[in-house]
Amino acid sequence: MTPIIRVVDVRKSTPLRRNPIFVFGPPVVLFALGISLVSQPDAFGQKHEIILAQIEANKEAGHIPPTPEIDEYLYPLFATEHAGNEYVVVNKQRPLNPIDYAPASLREINSSKSLDNSRGLVLADNAATAIEAMAVDLTAAGLGPLFINSAYRSYGYQSDLFESKTEQYGLEGALIRSAKAGHSEHQTGLAVDVSVTSQGCAIMQCFGGTAAGIWIAENAHKYGLIVRYEEDTTSTTGYTYEPWHLRYVGKEVASLYAERGIHTLEDFWKLPAAEFYLEEITESTND
Ligand SMILES: [Zn+2]
Repeated sequence: MTPIIRVVDVRKSTPLRRNPIFVFGPPVVLFALGISLVSQPDAFGQKHEIILAQIEANKEAGHIPPTPEIDEYLYPLFATEHAGNEYVVVNKQRPLNPIDYAPASLREINSSKSLDNSRGLVLADNAATAIEAMAVDLTAAGLGPLFINSAYRSYGYQSDLFESKTEQYGLEGALIRSAKAGHSEHQTGLAVDVSVTSQGCAIMQCFGGTAAGIWIAENAHKYGLIVRYEEDTTSTTGYTYEPWHLRYVGKEVASLYAERGIHTLEDFWKLPAAEFYLEEITESTND
């Protein structure tokens, strides 16, 4: 009984009740709590609807779903957020999570008569296998061997790279030339920069016009690879044309991507465009 008496003690509670903070505070807190509890299932429902809409769009585009189970569709969409998954989408607005993510396992891309990896660069196993297979066919077509210019880059490496570009060109110049650490596809172990020495135009846009560049753009999907930064997609991807930058997404996604004539991963997964870094916008509006 004692606690009840304490609660209704008028001498203590009256001054508190007169203070507006104590009068309006608790209802506001409860209201906010209610909103957050209600909005959580709502947000989930919204995501669910996006997935359903995506399924409908897929059906309209003539893609027959492999199975009717919705879970089959939930998985790939959510997988776009997971570093370490071949479906992960990394861009200027979608940093890796965790930002200093490093793949659990990486291996050296095997050099052969079709492929020159004299720099000893490494990739995730599935991506390395894909690029090796592509190099064999590219060389068989008389357009090889393939040279590996860059592959996996760690958070620390990318961070140093961005810092040195900033010293050299200033922040704006660095933002054009290099990705911020945690925002580069190279950190996933699924992206690779390639060239063909005999064709010239190494790591230049003119590589896209060489016989090897054309062959790669037309055939990469057969190995589960895509040219990630195509011409005229900067407003979506945030990067200018990079015919040398290939991204491993798996054969299933790559073949659908090619089949549907899609040009960016953002469009494929129906994700927002990411021309600028979120922080970049904040910086410029603060200036
Ligand atoms: Zn690259």
